[in-house]
Amino acid sequence: MSWEDGVRRVVPYVPGEQPKQAGIIKLNTNENPYPPAPGVKRALDELRYEEMRLYPDPDSGELVKALAEYYGLSEKQVFVGVGSDDVLAMAFLTFFNTGKPILFPDITYSFYDVWADLFRIPYERIRLDDVFRIHAEDYAGRENGGIVIANPNAPTGVALPLSEVEKIVSANRDVVVIVDEAYVDFGAESALPLLKKYENLLVVQTFSKSRAMAGMRIGFAFGNEKLIGYLLDCRFSFNSYPMNRPALAAGAAALKDDAYFREICDKIIETRERVKQELGALGFTFADSRTNFIFAAHESVPAKEIFEMLKERGIYVRYFEKPRIDNYLRITVGTDEEMDEMLKVLREYLGKM
Ligand code: PMP
Repeated sequence: MSWEDGVRRVVPYVPGEQPKQAGIIKLNTNENPYPPAPGVKRALDELRYEEMRLYPDPDSGELVKALAEYYGLSEKQVFVGVGSDDVLAMAFLTFFNTGKPILFPDITYSFYDVWADLFRIPYERIRLDDVFRIHAEDYAGRENGGIVIANPNAPTGVALPLSEVEKIVSANRDVVVIVDEAYVDFGAESALPLLKKYENLLVVQTFSKSRAMAGMRIGFAFGNEKLIGYLLDCRFSFNSYPMNRPALAAGAAALKDDAYFREICDKIIETRERVKQELGALGFTFADSRTNFIFAAHESVPAKEIFEMLKERGIYVRYFEKPRIDNYLRITVGTDEEMDEMLKVLREYLGKM
């Protein structure tokens, strides 16, 4: 017997690199290339440093209220966490306890299987079709302990229409269905309207991408009051003060500046569509992305080679050495200047000057 026999052994999720050197073009972790809304700066400037000695509001009231108002829901339907990773982890812990396998796509956010392993939740991966689409029928009539889908999906960028999401939720009313909408603001349909109809739905979103606040770590979820109540019970059995004072103030301030939010989302969508055309001309193919990234494969040059070539030139994109996707690059949509620099390097390398 050794102390190591008592260890909960897990293989952790590996996030994209956060290189320290200056001057690189960072397109590897789907951050927003624009700054947060100007009101966020004001809110941070107004923070009183003496107040940092006090615990923050355990109910995160300021942020919960702002979210409820913005999305037209009651405050009891809102849950917040330290990024949507924290929200999702809490939701796995709270809702997936029947011992039956939970279902998620074979290609999706690679944190899902890590949380399942961490919490000892069995799971089954459901194969996406050859163009990376989820088929709602695959999630019907299959005994399960819950479902999680990312919509739009990551790292593929492919979105599922609301009618298909509804089919999954309605075919599985006896378990909780989590819809992870980390990228929904870049042109997909949110499942929020379904909340009125279904008790078993949890919709998860984040400030990290569309609100340009990955560094603040703010995620949130919406569900019916009872479901959110269970999530809060687990949350408060784990950590009473998950959200710090700056995050609460900055998050609430970000929601007040809707015009800025829409402007940067529109800008990213516009850049994405332009870059898709240019990548297409260079021999890349990709699914129709509804996110702030493009998941692209080249017709002749292996993704790994392009990934390494770009990295040597200070351009970081994401490459996953995994079955079915090991010939794809996930390229975050940056500013127009960043994308132009990447396209220039690609053009030179691929000999299409
Ligand atoms: N869901 C998906 C699909 C993601 O790609 C990410 C980003 N890694 C997250 C959730 C978590 O984002 P955050 O914790 O920054 O909200």
